[in-house]
Amino acid sequence: MLDLTKIPDAVRSEGSVSRRLVLAYGAALAGLPLVSSRLTAADRKIVFESNPFTLGVASGDPDANSLVLWTKLAPDPTTAQGGMNPEMVPVSWEIAEDESMNKVVFSGIAVATPQLGHSVHVEVQGLKPARWYWYRFRAGDAVSPIGRTRTLPEPNAEPDSLRFAFASCQNYEQGLFTAYDQMAKDNLDLVFHLGDYIYEYPGKENQVRKHSGPTEGKIKTLDDYRLRHMQYRSDELLNAMHAQCPWFVTWDDHEFDNNYANDIQEEQRGFKPRTERVDFLVQRAAAYQAYYEMMPLRKQTLPEGPDMTIYRKASFGRLAEFFVLDTRQYRTDQPNGDGLKPMSEEAWKPSNTLLGKQQRGWLDRSLLESTATWNVLAQQVMFAMVEINLRDRSGFSMDQWPGAAFERMALMRFMADRKVPNPVVLTGDIHANWVNDLRVDDRQADSPIVATEFVGTSISSGGNGTKEVKNLDQLKAANPGVKFHNQERGYVRCEVTADRWTSDYVVVEDVKTAGGAALTRASFTVESGRPGAQLS
Ligand code: FE
Ligand code: CA
Repeated sequence: MLDLTKIPDAVRSEGSVSRRLVLAYGAALAGLPLVSSRLTAADRKIVFESNPFTLGVASGDPDANSLVLWTKLAPDPTTAQGGMNPEMVPVSWEIAEDESMNKVVFSGIAVATPQLGHSVHVEVQGLKPARWYWYRFRAGDAVSPIGRTRTLPEPNAEPDSLRFAFASCQNYEQGLFTAYDQMAKDNLDLVFHLGDYIYEYPGKENQVRKHSGPTEGKIKTLDDYRLRHMQYRSDELLNAMHAQCPWFVTWDDHEFDNNYANDIQEEQRGFKPRTERVDFLVQRAAAYQAYYEMMPLRKQTLPEGPDMTIYRKASFGRLAEFFVLDTRQYRTDQPNGDGLKPMSEEAWKPSNTLLGKQQRGWLDRSLLESTATWNVLAQQVMFAMVEINLRDRSGFSMDQWPGAAFERMALMRFMADRKVPNPVVLTGDIHANWVNDLRVDDRQADSPIVATEFVGTSISSGGNGTKEVKNLDQLKAANPGVKFHNQERGYVRCEVTADRWTSDYVVVEDVKTAGGAALTRASFTVESGRPGAQLS
């Protein structure tokens, strides 16, 4: 039985942030096995009027012996409370070695609390490495769909290959999530989601679909964020892909607010009154909490007020080490007032950062410790310093790594000097496909290539894009590191072996009507020991 009197005084003190800590503490308890017969008796009485598993199931953050199983009870995902009463509900779970759930290896009971939106995060331990498992949940008389998941190989194993995909930017209004239909057929070990999982904008008319919630002004409250997440996750194709294999997720800006930088709102550049920054952090706490509730994340990720540590790493044996980054929560304000700007002194200021000190130190240490053949940064914004020339403006994006050019250059130099094996950068954010060779300074075309960047386009944001980008030859001539660029919709599928990395640019021809055809537009390879991408 949960004993609320055991919550430490420090957590129970007054104020909204402390209140959130209490919620977080309650959530930490939610994973404890239940010993109370009272709750179990209550369990028998729970009868749902309609299916509470409308949001499906998911799994994530696997290592060799453990992973997270996720669900959230929501018989009515069109209301902020999901159609649930404000009471705790025991949810039983089981994980099996076979598809028909006959060989159950572990099972237990978790508590879905109203404080965490009746979400369930079970961390299952003691699993065997590198194998498939199947899992499901039960609440009252209702049974969830069966999900499939997989543990990673042991850290010292040398697996032959890894197949995964990475995706980003799924604006619900601007297109359908058809890309996930193709992804579900790709037989992947893993998916990485690099952010813009939801968009915070109000519902607009004359779109492919319409956002729920406000029709004016962006979403702001915990209820708003919960509702928006549930609307997205109710998409059948997204929902089904989560049940296919484990995901590693990280956010970009739109899970909270467009182009935010730590506690600074896009609209508040320059003068930032302290009170507004506090309000913005209260909003950030709501956005982060809703994100935690909806994602298959470990309990160590639980938000504490407006803070949530989401950067982390994962080893796929000795084949690949993934560093999942957070380039929003700790960054400094975009220099030069954001947008496309020249590489001025402001952009080069050594104090500009996308990672923040702690994450940067952790990344450096982790890169040095890695024994993997491929060292992969799974992150949000483009690393390549690309000069863009549009009719009305030109320059480098201050919201991307050129806005923290000193930090970017130091990191590239660090990887070059310390001979980090085969660095690869995976990127989302900008609704376009790019393949870039990365140098310490990308403008020095005769300097050695250090790493390779694959930027994946949006699942749906921007609606149907274009295959042929205007003035591409000019862009390539001005930016010799750029090997490929287009603006179609889709995702990137990667096949990794000890000798070769292959990235397939999968595109969906039409995201505005159901059943758009998917095809591979281009494939690029990187040979181990030879940074830089080759068209294959
Ligand atoms: Fe986006
Ligand atoms: Ca973004």
